[in-house]
Amino acid sequence: MNSEIVISVRELTKRFGDFTAVDRISFDVHRGEIFGFLGANGAGKTTAMRMLCGLSYPTAGSGSVAGFDVMREGEKIKRHIGYMSQRFSLYIDLTVWENMRLFAGIYGLNRRETEERASALLKRLNFEAERDTLVGSLPLGWKQKLSFAIATIHRPEVVFLDEPTGGVDPVTRRQFWELIYEAASEGTTIFVTTHYMDEAEYCSRVSIMVDGEVRALDTPARLKQQFAAESMDEVFRTLARGAQRGE
Ligand code: ATP
Repeated sequence: MNSEIVISVRELTKRFGDFTAVDRISFDVHRGEIFGFLGANGAGKTTAMRMLCGLSYPTAGSGSVAGFDVMREGEKIKRHIGYMSQRFSLYIDLTVWENMRLFAGIYGLNRRETEERASALLKRLNFEAERDTLVGSLPLGWKQKLSFAIATIHRPEVVFLDEPTGGVDPVTRRQFWELIYEAASEGTTIFVTTHYMDEAEYCSRVSIMVDGEVRALDTPARLKQQFAAESMDEVFRTLARGAQRGE
Protein backbone atom coordinates (compact mmCIF):
# COMPACT_ATOMS: atom_id res chain seq x y z
CA MET A 1 0.00 0.00 0.00
CA ASN A 2 1.19 3.51 -0.79
CA SER A 3 2.05 5.19 2.51
CA GLU A 4 0.97 8.69 1.47
CA ILE A 5 -2.12 9.69 3.43
CA VAL A 6 -4.79 11.51 1.41
CA ILE A 7 -7.64 11.52 3.93
CA SER A 8 -7.06 11.67 7.66
CA VAL A 9 -9.72 12.24 10.32
CA ARG A 10 -9.61 12.16 14.10
CA GLU A 11 -12.68 12.12 16.33
CA LEU A 12 -14.70 13.79 13.59
CA THR A 13 -18.17 14.61 14.90
CA LYS A 14 -21.37 16.14 13.56
CA ARG A 15 -24.28 17.05 15.78
CA PHE A 16 -27.68 18.33 14.71
CA GLY A 17 -29.05 19.98 17.87
CA ASP A 18 -28.59 17.34 20.55
CA PHE A 19 -28.54 14.48 18.04
CA THR A 20 -25.06 13.13 17.21
CA ALA A 21 -25.24 11.94 13.59
CA VAL A 22 -21.49 11.18 13.35
CA ASP A 23 -19.75 10.28 16.57
CA ARG A 24 -15.96 10.73 16.81
CA ILE A 25 -14.85 8.80 13.73
CA SER A 26 -11.11 8.36 13.08
CA PHE A 27 -9.25 6.81 10.14
CA ASP A 28 -6.60 7.36 7.44
CA VAL A 29 -6.95 6.60 3.75
CA HIS A 30 -3.86 6.16 1.54
CA ARG A 31 -3.18 7.19 -2.03
CA GLY A 32 -4.66 4.76 -4.55
CA GLU A 33 -6.73 2.92 -1.97
CA ILE A 34 -10.32 1.90 -2.63
CA PHE A 35 -11.88 2.66 0.73
CA GLY A 36 -15.36 1.19 1.24
CA PHE A 37 -17.55 3.19 3.59
CA LEU A 38 -20.39 0.99 4.76
CA GLY A 39 -23.21 1.37 7.21
CA ALA A 40 -26.89 0.62 7.64
CA ASN A 41 -29.53 3.23 6.76
CA GLY A 42 -29.15 6.26 9.00
CA ALA A 43 -25.72 5.18 10.30
CA GLY A 44 -24.27 8.55 9.33
CA LYS A 45 -22.41 7.80 6.09
CA THR A 46 -23.82 10.66 4.03
CA THR A 47 -23.28 13.13 6.88
CA ALA A 48 -19.65 11.98 7.26
CA MET A 49 -19.02 12.07 3.55
CA ARG A 50 -20.42 15.59 3.23
CA MET A 51 -17.90 16.76 5.85
CA LEU A 52 -15.04 15.08 3.96
CA CYS A 53 -16.14 16.74 0.70
CA GLY A 54 -16.20 20.23 2.18
CA LEU A 55 -19.97 20.44 1.90
CA SER A 56 -20.56 20.78 5.63
CA TYR A 57 -18.36 21.71 8.57
CA PRO A 58 -17.78 19.29 11.47
CA THR A 59 -19.01 20.16 14.96
CA ALA A 60 -15.82 18.77 16.53
CA GLY A 61 -12.70 16.79 15.74
CA SER A 62 -10.05 17.36 13.09
CA GLY A 63 -8.99 16.14 9.70
CA SER A 64 -7.62 16.81 6.26
CA VAL A 65 -8.55 15.83 2.73
CA ALA A 66 -6.07 16.24 -0.13
CA GLY A 67 -3.98 18.40 2.20
CA PHE A 68 -6.77 20.79 3.25
CA ASP A 69 -8.31 21.22 6.66
CA VAL A 70 -11.89 19.89 7.00
CA MET A 71 -12.63 22.44 9.74
CA ARG A 72 -11.68 25.52 7.72
CA GLU A 73 -10.95 24.82 4.06
CA GLY A 74 -14.17 23.34 2.71
CA GLU A 75 -14.06 25.49 -0.41
CA LYS A 76 -10.52 24.35 -1.27
CA ILE A 77 -11.43 20.72 -0.63
CA LYS A 78 -14.37 21.02 -3.03
CA ARG A 79 -12.03 22.15 -5.81
CA HIS A 80 -9.53 19.32 -5.27
CA ILE A 81 -11.84 16.33 -5.14
CA GLY A 82 -14.34 14.60 -7.39
CA TYR A 83 -17.81 13.84 -6.07
CA MET A 84 -20.51 11.63 -7.48
CA SER A 85 -23.70 11.87 -5.48
CA GLN A 86 -26.59 9.39 -5.39
CA ARG A 87 -28.65 11.76 -7.50
CA PHE A 88 -25.87 12.65 -9.86
CA SER A 89 -25.67 16.13 -11.14
CA LEU A 90 -25.59 15.55 -14.90
CA TYR A 91 -27.76 17.83 -17.01
CA ILE A 92 -30.23 15.58 -18.79
CA ASP A 93 -31.14 18.14 -21.45
CA LEU A 94 -27.50 18.57 -22.51
CA THR A 95 -25.52 16.09 -24.60
CA VAL A 96 -22.74 13.85 -23.31
CA TRP A 97 -20.11 16.19 -24.75
CA GLU A 98 -21.81 19.34 -23.42
CA ASN A 99 -21.92 17.85 -19.92
CA MET A 100 -18.22 17.03 -20.07
CA ARG A 101 -17.38 20.52 -21.28
CA LEU A 102 -19.55 22.17 -18.66
CA PHE A 103 -18.04 20.27 -15.72
CA ALA A 104 -14.50 20.58 -17.05
CA GLY A 105 -15.09 24.36 -17.04
CA ILE A 106 -16.46 24.28 -13.49
CA TYR A 107 -13.37 22.35 -12.40
CA GLY A 108 -11.17 25.00 -14.00
CA LEU A 109 -9.75 23.13 -17.01
CA ASN A 110 -8.83 25.23 -20.02
CA ARG A 111 -10.12 24.52 -23.54
CA ARG A 112 -7.23 22.34 -24.63
CA GLU A 113 -7.26 20.26 -21.44
CA THR A 114 -11.02 19.88 -21.75
CA GLU A 115 -10.77 18.64 -25.37
CA GLU A 116 -7.97 16.22 -24.49
CA ARG A 117 -9.50 14.73 -21.38
CA ALA A 118 -13.08 14.60 -22.63
CA SER A 119 -11.95 12.83 -25.82
CA ALA A 120 -9.84 10.36 -23.81
CA LEU A 121 -12.75 9.63 -21.49
CA LEU A 122 -15.19 9.08 -24.35
CA LYS A 123 -12.76 6.59 -25.83
CA ARG A 124 -12.18 4.80 -22.54
CA LEU A 125 -15.91 4.49 -21.93
CA ASN A 126 -16.57 3.38 -25.51
CA PHE A 127 -18.91 6.33 -25.73
CA GLU A 128 -17.61 7.97 -28.90
CA ALA A 129 -20.84 7.24 -30.79
CA GLU A 130 -22.85 8.89 -27.99
CA ARG A 131 -20.97 12.16 -27.96
CA ASP A 132 -23.98 14.13 -29.19
CA THR A 133 -26.67 12.07 -27.44
CA LEU A 134 -28.81 13.80 -24.82
CA VAL A 135 -27.86 12.46 -21.40
CA GLY A 136 -31.55 12.10 -20.49
CA SER A 137 -31.96 9.38 -23.10
CA LEU A 138 -29.05 7.22 -21.85
CA PRO A 139 -29.68 4.05 -19.80
CA LEU A 140 -29.02 4.40 -16.04
CA GLY A 141 -25.78 2.37 -16.12
CA TRP A 142 -24.36 4.63 -18.84
CA LYS A 143 -25.29 7.73 -16.89
CA GLN A 144 -23.44 6.32 -13.89
CA LYS A 145 -20.31 5.63 -15.91
CA LEU A 146 -20.47 9.10 -17.42
CA SER A 147 -20.94 10.64 -13.95
CA PHE A 148 -17.85 8.82 -12.74
CA ALA A 149 -15.85 9.96 -15.75
CA ILE A 150 -16.94 13.54 -15.17
CA ALA A 151 -16.14 13.35 -11.46
CA THR A 152 -12.55 12.45 -12.42
CA ILE A 153 -12.13 14.69 -15.50
CA HIS A 154 -9.91 17.14 -13.58
CA ARG A 155 -7.78 14.25 -12.23
CA PRO A 156 -8.58 14.85 -8.57
CA GLU A 157 -6.48 13.21 -5.88
CA VAL A 158 -9.57 11.67 -4.36
CA VAL A 159 -13.02 10.88 -5.65
CA PHE A 160 -16.06 10.33 -3.42
CA LEU A 161 -18.74 8.00 -4.75
CA ASP A 162 -22.04 7.87 -2.89
CA GLU A 163 -23.76 4.60 -3.84
CA PRO A 164 -22.60 4.95 -7.42
CA THR A 165 -24.11 1.68 -8.66
CA GLY A 166 -27.54 1.84 -7.01
CA GLY A 167 -30.25 0.20 -9.09
CA VAL A 168 -28.20 -1.29 -11.92
CA ASP A 169 -27.64 -4.89 -12.99
CA PRO A 170 -24.59 -6.91 -11.86
CA VAL A 171 -22.90 -6.80 -15.28
CA THR A 172 -23.03 -3.00 -15.42
CA ARG A 173 -21.89 -2.82 -11.80
CA ARG A 174 -18.91 -4.98 -12.67
CA GLN A 175 -18.03 -2.66 -15.58
CA PHE A 176 -18.34 0.31 -13.25
CA TRP A 177 -15.92 -1.33 -10.84
CA GLU A 178 -13.42 -1.79 -13.65
CA LEU A 179 -13.41 2.00 -14.04
CA ILE A 180 -12.84 2.33 -10.30
CA TYR A 181 -9.88 -0.09 -10.39
CA GLU A 182 -8.37 1.71 -13.34
CA ALA A 183 -8.58 5.10 -11.60
CA ALA A 184 -7.14 3.63 -8.38
CA SER A 185 -4.26 2.00 -10.24
CA GLU A 186 -3.41 5.43 -11.66
CA GLY A 187 -3.15 6.78 -8.10
CA THR A 188 -6.62 8.23 -7.56
CA THR A 189 -7.92 7.52 -4.08
CA ILE A 190 -11.47 6.16 -4.09
CA PHE A 191 -13.87 6.65 -1.20
CA VAL A 192 -17.06 4.73 -1.93
CA THR A 193 -20.32 3.93 -0.15
CA THR A 194 -22.39 0.96 -1.24
CA HIS A 195 -25.22 -1.25 -0.10
CA TYR A 196 -23.94 -4.14 -2.21
CA MET A 197 -21.82 -6.48 -0.14
CA ASP A 198 -20.19 -8.11 -3.16
CA GLU A 199 -18.76 -4.64 -3.89
CA ALA A 200 -17.41 -4.44 -0.35
CA GLU A 201 -15.27 -7.47 -1.26
CA TYR A 202 -13.63 -5.45 -4.06
CA CYS A 203 -12.39 -2.70 -1.71
CA SER A 204 -8.83 -2.45 -0.37
CA ARG A 205 -10.24 -1.72 3.09
CA VAL A 206 -13.74 -1.35 4.47
CA SER A 207 -15.09 0.63 7.38
CA ILE A 208 -18.49 -0.18 8.84
CA MET A 209 -20.52 2.48 10.63
CA VAL A 210 -23.25 1.73 13.16
CA ASP A 211 -25.22 4.48 14.92
CA GLY A 212 -22.73 7.21 14.02
CA GLU A 213 -19.58 5.28 15.03
CA VAL A 214 -17.02 3.34 13.01
CA ARG A 215 -17.32 -0.14 14.56
CA ALA A 216 -14.96 -2.04 12.26
CA LEU A 217 -12.21 -1.15 9.80
CA ASP A 218 -9.87 -3.49 7.96
CA THR A 219 -9.33 -5.40 4.73
CA PRO A 220 -12.29 -7.60 3.71
CA ALA A 221 -10.18 -10.71 4.38
CA ARG A 222 -9.24 -9.63 7.92
CA LEU A 223 -12.78 -8.53 8.74
CA LYS A 224 -14.11 -11.94 7.72
CA GLN A 225 -11.47 -13.55 9.90
CA GLN A 226 -12.21 -11.24 12.84
CA PHE A 227 -15.95 -11.96 12.71
CA ALA A 228 -15.52 -15.63 11.75
CA ALA A 229 -17.70 -14.91 8.73
CA GLU A 230 -17.82 -16.43 5.24
CA SER A 231 -18.70 -13.18 3.49
CA MET A 232 -18.77 -9.41 3.96
CA ASP A 233 -22.55 -9.71 4.00
CA GLU A 234 -22.28 -11.82 7.16
CA VAL A 235 -19.80 -9.36 8.75
CA PHE A 236 -22.13 -6.50 7.95
CA ARG A 237 -25.23 -8.24 9.31
CA THR A 238 -23.44 -9.19 12.54
CA LEU A 239 -22.52 -5.54 13.14
CA ALA A 240 -25.78 -3.98 11.96
CA ARG A 241 -27.92 -6.34 14.06
CA GLY A 242 -27.39 -4.23 17.17
CA ALA A 243 -28.11 -0.88 15.45
CA GLN A 244 -30.55 1.46 17.13
CA ARG A 245 -31.10 3.62 14.06
CA GLY A 246 -32.44 2.75 10.63
CA GLU A 247 -35.39 0.73 9.45
P1 ATP B 1 -28.62 6.34 4.28
O1 ATP B 1 -27.86 5.16 3.78
O2 ATP B 1 -30.05 6.01 4.62
O3 ATP B 1 -28.47 7.56 3.44
P2 ATP B 1 -26.70 7.41 6.12
O4 ATP B 1 -25.81 6.44 6.82
O5 ATP B 1 -26.14 8.13 4.97
O6 ATP B 1 -28.01 6.68 5.72
P3 ATP B 1 -27.23 10.01 7.22
O7 ATP B 1 -28.04 10.46 6.05
O8 ATP B 1 -25.86 10.52 7.35
O9 ATP B 1 -27.19 8.42 7.23
O10 ATP B 1 -28.05 10.32 8.54
C1 ATP B 1 -27.57 9.97 9.83
C2 ATP B 1 -28.58 10.43 10.85
O11 ATP B 1 -28.55 11.86 10.94
C3 ATP B 1 -30.03 10.07 10.53
O12 ATP B 1 -30.67 9.69 11.73
C4 ATP B 1 -30.61 11.35 9.97
O13 ATP B 1 -31.99 11.43 10.23
C5 ATP B 1 -29.83 12.42 10.74
N1 ATP B 1 -29.66 13.64 9.94
C6 ATP B 1 -29.03 13.76 8.76
N2 ATP B 1 -29.03 15.04 8.35
C7 ATP B 1 -29.70 15.76 9.29
C8 ATP B 1 -30.04 17.15 9.46
N3 ATP B 1 -29.69 18.05 8.54
N4 ATP B 1 -30.72 17.50 10.57
C9 ATP B 1 -31.06 16.59 11.50
N5 ATP B 1 -30.76 15.28 11.42
C10 ATP B 1 -30.10 14.86 10.32
